[in-house]
Formats: sequence, C-alpha cells, structure tokens
Amino acid sequence: MRRNFVAGNWKMHGSKQAVKDLLTGIEAELDSVNESTEIVVCPSNLHIGLVESLRQSSRVLLGAQDCHAKELGAYTGDTSAVMLAEHGVDYVIVGHSERRQYYAESDSDVAEKFMAVQAAGLSPILCVGESLQQYQAGLSQQTVLAQLDAVIDLASIEAFANAVVAYEPVWAIGTGHTATPEQAQAVHGVIRQRIAERAANFSNNIAAGLRIIYGGSVNSGNAVELFAQQDIDGGLVGGASLKPTEFISICKSVD
Ligand code: PEP
Repeated sequence: MRRNFVAGNWKMHGSKQAVKDLLTGIEAELDSVNESTEIVVCPSNLHIGLVESLRQSSRVLLGAQDCHAKELGAYTGDTSAVMLAEHGVDYVIVGHSERRQYYAESDSDVAEKFMAVQAAGLSPILCVGESLQQYQAGLSQQTVLAQLDAVIDLASIEAFANAVVAYEPVWAIGTGHTATPEQAQAVHGVIRQRIAERAANFSNNIAAGLRIIYGGSVNSGNAVELFAQQDIDGGLVGGASLKPTEFISICKSVD
C-alpha cells in the first residue's frame, strides 16, 4: 500500500514573513488532511532553517529543491545533501525541469545528485518530463523513460526502493495547461512498468511500492481527478502551494 504524497515546491519565493505566514496557514488546516498523506514543503535553501525552527507539527516534512552531487568542496554557492540533512531535510528534489533548462543539468548530473541524496540518508524526488516539442512529436513516454533509465543505470534499480518519482511535463509547469488525467496516467503507468521490468530479477515490491506523483499546474480544481488515477500517488505542486488553503485542499484531494 503506497502512502499518498503531496509536496509544495516554493521555488525562489518568500520573504521570512511570507514563509512564516505560509507555514502557519498550512499547519492551521493540517488536521483536515488524512493522516496517511505525507506532506512536504520545499522552501528555498535559505528558508529551510526557518521552517525547521518554526514548524509545530511533525507532519510537515521538509524538502529541498536541489543539492550538489558532492559532499563538500570548492563549489561556490552550492549546498550538499549532507548539509541539508543536518537541517532536518527529509526529501530533495533532483532533476527539476527548471534546473535541467536553466542550469543545463544532464541526465547523468541528475543521477549523481540522486545518489548523493541517498548517500546522505535522504530521499530523492526525481523529476522527469518531456518538453512541449517532445510532447508535440509524440515523444513523451520515450523521453521520460530515457530520463528514468539514466538514473537507474547509474544509481541501480534497488535505489528506487527509497525514492519518489515526479512526472512533470515541462509544458504543464506554471502554464495553467495541465495534462489530462488519462494522459498523466498513461505516463505514470509506463514509469511503473519500466521500474517493474528493471527490477524483475530483484524484487516485485519496488515498482508496487514506488510513489509516482504528478506535477504541472495542479490546483484544487483538477487535483481530485488526477489523483484518482491508479498510478498517480499525489502531486508536486508549484504555484498553488504558495496559498495555504489551496495547498491543503490539494492535499485533501489525494484521499
Ligand atoms: C513545479 O514547479 O514543480 C510545478 C509543478 O509548478 P506548477 O504547479 O506551478 O506548475
């Protein structure tokens, strides 16, 4: 039985006061969310310590939006997974399309980060997704599977026993154009099938237990239908996670 999972990616948003207000707002409504749903907030690295010190409920787990692949070293401006672990972080997003696009992160960079997160004792949220051009060319599944295989090849299939995969079509992120539940389910289904194939000699449980969440313009109006799909175990939410009531409503949609 997979636990539902909803993460809010706050991106580069929020003053100290705004982060405090957002966290307070989420915590005020937490009781209305099914206890079995895992809730994660991913503030900027600068605000992680603030959220760690302010959070009142152990139900709000902490996520980071990225990390460096190395444990330490001369990497000006970067943060390692080990540092994040010391600040109470549980999950780290790796391979978000904004990192792939604006920082030219390759599949192998993403795989290295995925391994660094696990080496630090944390769980990666691996983002995969096709661009608009790839979508229009009918290459959605092929693209996503290639991104997934690159990480399996380097990190091993066993590593997916402790990971979350987020399918985020790039054309849906921040655009208001959400994949239909059927489109999203089709890709989630092939992701789970690929994990099952790659794990066949090892264990059936990895594919069955893997949380595969959807991201891309999720809001309280479309979440119920998306999350009702059999292979969609929750969401990675950007814009809508900055409004506490909206975010909580999305968390409730996964029940
Ligand atoms: C994201 O950035 O991961 C995301 C899904 O953003 P949005 O919900 O705003 O599309």
